[in-house]
Amino acid sequence: MSDQYLLPTYTRQPLVLVRGEGAQVWDVNGRVYLDFVGGIAVALVGHCHPQVVSAVQQQAAELIHTSNLFYTEPAARLAARLAQQAQRAGLKQPRLFFANSGTEAVEAALKLARRFAAVVKGEPGRYEIISALGSFHGRTMGALAATGQEKYQRDFRPLPEGFRYVPYNDAAALGRAISEKTAAVILEAVQGEGGVRPADPGYLQAARRLTRERGALLILDEVQTGLGRTGSFFAFEQAGIQPDLICLAKGLGGGLPIGALIAAAPASQGFAPGSHASTFGGNPLACRAALAVLDVLEQEQLVKAAQAKGERLYQGLAALAQRFGLAQARGVGLMQALDLGTEAAAQVVDLAREEGLLVNAVSPTTLRLLPPLVTSSEQIQEALGALERALTRWRSSL
Ligand SMILES: *Cc1c(COP(=O)(O)O)cnc(C)c1O
Repeated sequence: MSDQYLLPTYTRQPLVLVRGEGAQVWDVNGRVYLDFVGGIAVALVGHCHPQVVSAVQQQAAELIHTSNLFYTEPAARLAARLAQQAQRAGLKQPRLFFANSGTEAVEAALKLARRFAAVVKGEPGRYEIISALGSFHGRTMGALAATGQEKYQRDFRPLPEGFRYVPYNDAAALGRAISEKTAAVILEAVQGEGGVRPADPGYLQAARRLTRERGALLILDEVQTGLGRTGSFFAFEQAGIQPDLICLAKGLGGGLPIGALIAAAPASQGFAPGSHASTFGGNPLACRAALAVLDVLEQEQLVKAAQAKGERLYQGLAALAQRFGLAQARGVGLMQALDLGTEAAAQVVDLAREEGLLVNAVSPTTLRLLPPLVTSSEQIQEALGALERALTRWRSSL
């Protein structure tokens, strides 16, 4: 039925999943897998964490949706919680806008940046958005225009105007591109869909300095890296910088769709009543789930644990890379990749699955591992064992 009735936009692994618990999922035949896809970085606190399940159950029975024509408690509390986190990272007077996905959080950031320049600063000629080659910011037209990868843009032209691209991790090129026309620079602290490529801290620091000096905003797209994934609540904290705007989504709702834009002062003046809106954005159900996710992150100290677990995973992957003569392991915290150096990622994904481990290929050569932050050290060892068996089988098949 999926193949007959769904538009063929996805290449799926041949697996029907029916249940999840922590870092494990079960297929329809009862077979268990370690889930290092993690719903593409969504299952931060694992699948069906009891606190998230209970929050969703309670809220679903109380009130699911109201529209933003009214106040609701979960949205207010979630905004306050995330604003506090942003404040702890050094952002001034942060304020939130809630959307329903990563791409919508990015759209909100792009629109705010343009309106801030045009209306608040009174510089309508300052509309350009600069992004990095190899970036991924989403699939809607604005976010797609910001996504510096030809393969995503190719079939959808014309895209919105006023976007330009610079090589990633090249501060000099960024310096040449930012001008009096630049409304904002948008960057990922680790390019996720682009192959798990960390930014040099010096690059992010240069981006902060250059945008500030030249009157442009700095947007950090933390949709994949945010909420502890890289071992700090926001990945940019590791570079010691404060962006003007932060985009969040993926792990925030524990699996429920929610995106968020955090705007620090003075960028937060960029939106006024009527500037932007979302029917579902900030609905009580998704916000209540997100509050539970933040509780779990804090109570189980998962952000800090992501550092140590990530290091263990990285070391294991680096050992496999060496042993099998692969290109490299790379990543930050629990956002890791194994670059095979040859176009065999799809085959190794299939073999790993047969060995009980779910991973995905972010490129023909590269496997990505995004385990839930609740994954135990034993499960990380287990995953490395499964990957080792998969690589051994791949090698002997050549
Ligand atoms: C996944 C992702 C998006 C898009 O999120 P959706 O919820 O799929 O729209 C945007 N930016 C980054 C960095 C992402 O990883």
